[in-house]
Amino acid sequence: MPPLPNSNAPQPIRDVLDSIEQQFELSDEKLREITAHFVKMYQLGLQHGHEPMAMIPTFVTAVPDGSETGTFMAVDLGGTNFRVCEVTLEGNHKFSLKQKKFKVTEDLKTGPVTNLFDYMATCVGEFLEELGTVPEEEALHMGLTFSFPVEQTALGAGRLITWTKGFSATGAVGNDVVQLFQDSLDKKRINTKCCALVNDTVGTLLTRGYLTGSCFLGAIFGTGTNGAYVEDMAAIPKLKKKDAKHHDKMVINTEWGAFDNARHVLPLTRWDNALDRISINPRYQAYEKLISGMYLGEIARNILIYLIDLPPVPGSNPPQYYLFKGHSSKKMNTQYGFDSELLSKIKEDSTPGAIRQLLVEEMGFVTYQISDLDAEIVAWVCDKVASRSAALSACAVAATLIQCRYVQLGGEPGEKSADTLELGVDGSLVEFYPGFEQTMRKALRAIIGDKMEKTVKVRMAKDGSGVGAALCALVAVKSEAKLS
Ligand code: ADP
Ligand code: MG
Repeated sequence: MPPLPNSNAPQPIRDVLDSIEQQFELSDEKLREITAHFVKMYQLGLQHGHEPMAMIPTFVTAVPDGSETGTFMAVDLGGTNFRVCEVTLEGNHKFSLKQKKFKVTEDLKTGPVTNLFDYMATCVGEFLEELGTVPEEEALHMGLTFSFPVEQTALGAGRLITWTKGFSATGAVGNDVVQLFQDSLDKKRINTKCCALVNDTVGTLLTRGYLTGSCFLGAIFGTGTNGAYVEDMAAIPKLKKKDAKHHDKMVINTEWGAFDNARHVLPLTRWDNALDRISINPRYQAYEKLISGMYLGEIARNILIYLIDLPPVPGSNPPQYYLFKGHSSKKMNTQYGFDSELLSKIKEDSTPGAIRQLLVEEMGFVTYQISDLDAEIVAWVCDKVASRSAALSACAVAATLIQCRYVQLGGEPGEKSADTLELGVDGSLVEFYPGFEQTMRKALRAIIGDKMEKTVKVRMAKDGSGVGAALCALVAVKSEAKLS
């Protein structure tokens, strides 16, 4: 498909856009190649520790069926927000939830980690006071959803392996994050006991299971991207015998954001490299940087800046620039200045008038700098970036289906079969970007065939982190009771 089918863009501009188009193209063959490599990396990660695709055993050995009951506290450090909730599991696949969101500032993300956890503890205290349920005698049980790579040592303990998503707080890597959080809660005399540590992907998986009775994969497309699925114990060679006893399944937190850090198959462009080079974790989270909310706007910004900066068409008089008459804005020149939310807004209404208004109001452009063609180019660029993200997301989903032996690459049936397979998703990108699921599905069909694609039911696991943490707190309380 030629770019900008409805415009009469001059040929030099079309040529440049064509070249961008080519670099963003993902053939069916390429999608399959990436997926095959994905499965290989899954298996490598299941064999040894310290692989980039960490494949972390979570000590969660069952997906809930919706009959669970109880009231728990749940907190969620996502990447952009910190959420505090009180969750009541009512059984019958139902729950109720009260929550409050708090912003996590740059200072907290990058300062001493005690500041971050003290802040989180203060938020919990504030929430409990507002709720009027300050616990006096018995401590409230709480699950912590912590969406960073953690080497879990038990359901309620785990050491931070590395920060991602723009965090770099000092004194955290290598330490037990539950203990750090509990220290802050105790210091501030907030009578709660953090007894479960959950990744948001696991929370999403468990929540979808609670709501629908089953779930094969929980996937996040928010600030970052990651997935958790149910694996056969026998397929996790790196797990020690003592961890594996009594159970035949375990939920694996894949940490797929780190897929292909070695850059064997991912189709990285100069704009992706520009993003990576000045990110706080260059050469890490390669897959995440092509896919998730923290980065999509930045990729689009890099392409737009490239077009703005191109010298005018040779021989043109007056000089003909490629975008915005060669002008930029302060915000446009700022790293992460173009939020992924704009991609959704532009997709929702791609008329030149609407885009012009957005660029003026949100990006500080001046109206006369933006022609109709400029607006059209902006919409086209944003669509390229978001569509590539959605298509690449399908590789992770397909790889999981292949790893679980439901299907083979290309669509041949696998050893296992199912009428429907529940895929629980969460995150602002998948929730709000128009058509994210459709684009992902189109790529899924190319990788694993129409039949398999149809069996996959994609559903939001809204509030997944809260409900998932509550479900894990419940398991922790039960096993505590068994021990005493
Ligand atoms: P968290 O990752 O903290 O759980 P979210 O799932 O809300 O939080 O994801 C936040 C990320 O999603 C941010 O990077 C933000 O830029 C992006 N985002 C927020 N709203 C939208 C939207 N409407 N469309 C696309 N991306 C969005
Ligand atoms: Mg989240």
